[in-house]
Amino acid sequence: TEEILRNTEKLVFAGQLAVGIAHEIRNPLTTVKGMLQLLGKDNCLRHYNLIMSELERMNMIVGEFLILGKPQAVQFREERCFPILQEVLNLFEIQAALNFININCDVDADLPVRCDRNQIKQVFMNIVKNAIEALPHAGNIRILLEARGTFQLIRIADDGVGMNEQVLQRIGEPFHTTKPEGNGLGMMIVKKIIDAHHGRLEIASEPGRGTTVDIYLPASNP
Ligand code: ADP
Ligand code: MG
Repeated sequence: TEEILRNTEKLVFAGQLAVGIAHEIRNPLTTVKGMLQLLGKDNCLRHYNLIMSELERMNMIVGEFLILGKPQAVQFREERCFPILQEVLNLFEIQAALNFININCDVDADLPVRCDRNQIKQVFMNIVKNAIEALPHAGNIRILLEARGTFQLIRIADDGVGMNEQVLQRIGEPFHTTKPEGNGLGMMIVKKIIDAHHGRLEIASEPGRGTTVDIYLPASNP
């Protein structure tokens, strides 16, 4: 119980902190980016690309935080998941190919769900990104869309490094990462979004065998 409490406190704290930091950082970040764009055009600046890409990284992190703190911007509409998923897969196509990752999709049913398209995209992006990062050399990502009772199931499975019990237990805890370049925010965001959609997240994993992430979203017309 103590640990649960500690985690909850951490989450609430992280959430408040995140929104504060995000707002404070975004404005100066935008200014600096704009100035750099001008400088870069005149070739005045060495290391322009590195600075820009680092800024973009910060921008992405701040953007993720802002999504957490902005429920009013959410727009729920009837959408099918597969087209959203396809957009995400297109984004990762090159990265997957470079890592010899084969992505295979099996669409059995793609029921309309009431969802915020951007948030669901964010969910798929984080999970597919984790799957790719779990396959540093080569491997497979298998995606399955199926109707399960009154729910639409979206399963994203990889045969990558997997997780041990401790990592699996702590998944979704803010800033919990096993990656040198990770930020440990992806799965926290995924959980928050799925909760807001009255969905369910189930993760099964085995070290050395791989990970299966199941997302259940309530279907509009089951
Ligand atoms: P990050 O990817 O920045 O580390 P996440 O919240 O996305 O943060 O994931 C937290 C941790 O959960 C990861 O560092 C990793 O240890 C583990 N994890 C998540 N997805 C997978 C996966 N598909 N395979 C193996 N480990 C995973
Ligand atoms: Mg991640």
